[in-house]
Amino acid sequence: MPQRPPDVTPRIVQGDLPDDLLATYLASKEVAIDTETLGLQTLRDRLCLVQLCDRAGNGAIVQITRDRLTPGGSGPCRTPNLKRLLEAADVLKIFHFARFDVAAMSHWLGIRVTPIYCTRTASKLCRTYTDRHGLKDNVLELLDIEMDKQARHTDWSATTLSPEQVRYAISDVTMLHALMDKLQFMLERDGRAELARRCFEAIPVHADLDIAGFNLLFEH
Ligand code: MN
Repeated sequence: MPQRPPDVTPRIVQGDLPDDLLATYLASKEVAIDTETLGLQTLRDRLCLVQLCDRAGNGAIVQITRDRLTPGGSGPCRTPNLKRLLEAADVLKIFHFARFDVAAMSHWLGIRVTPIYCTRTASKLCRTYTDRHGLKDNVLELLDIEMDKQARHTDWSATTLSPEQVRYAISDVTMLHALMDKLQFMLERDGRAELARRCFEAIPVHADLDIAGFNLLFEH
């Protein structure tokens, strides 16, 4: 029987990361990050939440209020603490499908995320025996955990998040450290860790291409 995701009760904050949480996350080697938006079109659908979790299980949900957004670089960044953490060179930021989150935070917050680990990219490089690279499929196979994805299609701009939204939003970051460990082991075993590292470095370029409207630039 698969297990349930770890029980992490996140701190829910508005606007930006508070100073004490910034200090906590800056002291960690790796922080898992996810975002929720109003949809899949980065230029149309605004960023609503940034979820974070460190390896010790300190979880947070930052509700990005409208006054913090600077679409397309319209003004200086209005989430300076998030910017400081997400651009900190000595804190690895772990995502599942980083390309989307990195584009959203670049466009809506003016943040250039680095350095990046993407568990979806890692999964595609080592789990070549399947075409199922979603987070749900990865954690079920590699961590034996069954995720509940029911709250996915909800209004993430709501002033008050429902308990289901909170549980769903934080569960997208509470397992990324453990998943990264499993995938990194597989990448090293298969001699693809260096290729993966170079792919992670290329993710901001792909995010920039998405924002600039270039689809499939590398396709024939
Ligand atoms: Mn998510």
